[in-house]
Amino acid sequence: MIENVPVFLKRWEPGMYLDKVEPNTLPLWVALIDLPFYLWNGKCISSIVSQIGKPIAMDKVTKERCIRQTRQAGYARILIEINVNEEIPDYIKVIYPSENGILGKMIKIKLGYQWKPTRCSHCKVFGHDYGRCMGRPLTEEEIEAKRKKDDEERLKEERLKEKTDEV
Ligand SMILES: [Zn+2]
Repeated sequence: MIENVPVFLKRWEPGMYLDKVEPNTLPLWVALIDLPFYLWNGKCISSIVSQIGKPIAMDKVTKERCIRQTRQAGYARILIEINVNEEIPDYIKVIYPSENGILGKMIKIKLGYQWKPTRCSHCKVFGHDYGRCMGRPLTEEEIEAKRKKDDEERLKEERLKEKTDEV
């Protein structure tokens, strides 16, 4: 890890192409923003983030807070391993039992990422986003924009030709 950004190093082998170097999992630091104090323990935090990936480690501050129990909301930071084929959500829904143990309450926890890889929702791979995707069909707007551009190019060429003809 360099500056908390994972770096992948893999020995190049003949016949290996860049798109195949992509690992299937990716380590990622995720922050659970404004985590209510009653969810501040290792077990809860791990099970919450399990919805999006495999918990690997909590940072030092988070670990200490779990032990100290400050009874205050705050953000917990945990390293998880995500699957590259899945979306990286901005929110996580948590259902926890109320005090009577019968009714469950649902809360939404906002997630923060220091670094989030660019991912294409069409190809389901990291490295480029939907806007720059070469593999997806063009949208109507893009087709329209492309046609306009082609028309302009043609007009330019015709004008140039006219000028050359005059000489
Ligand atoms: Zn793509």
